[in-house]
Amino acid sequence: MSTRKPRIAVDMDEVLADPLAKFIKLYNRDYNVPLDLKIAPGNEIGMHVPEHAKLKLREYINEKGFFRDLDVIPDAVEVMKELQKKYEVFIVSAAMEFPNSLQDKQEWLAEHFPFIGWQHIMFCGYKIVNTDIMIDDRIKNFVDYDGRKLLFTSPHNMLLTDYERVNTWKEVAEKLL
Ligand SMILES: [Mg+2]
Repeated sequence: MSTRKPRIAVDMDEVLADPLAKFIKLYNRDYNVPLDLKIAPGNEIGMHVPEHAKLKLREYINEKGFFRDLDVIPDAVEVMKELQKKYEVFIVSAAMEFPNSLQDKQEWLAEHFPFIGWQHIMFCGYKIVNTDIMIDDRIKNFVDYDGRKLLFTSPHNMLLTDYERVNTWKEVAEKLL
């Protein structure tokens, strides 16, 4: 009988890291989008910027450095540390979509989550993972996933009702610790 700890796959963007705040900063700099922009439930940020600026998003995200200085989502560090005592915690990020992000993401994790070793960092394409729990903000990553799915709240997913939801890292702690 295996006595391994249960495994958790944790997404990066909009779960551990906050790319939305960075997008808003860049759109504010280049297109005067207000810094206090609130993304309406169900919307992507592209729905709140001028029509001609929508494609700029791909440019921002592909720029070297975009992912290096993202804010950490509140309480993520503390709760991840606690989760590690009870679970085997993996970072699973579909980083291959943005090859320029790889080094940024690796350095960002080393800075903010130095307690996650390289063996537990998975930069991938599709998230085909064999874990017991997955925490992610995109339901496309739950398709064909058999474990327990925790949908981490982000504006774009707020209208979805068919999933077990966590709004904050404090709620992750309440459910899993
Ligand atoms: Mg994400």
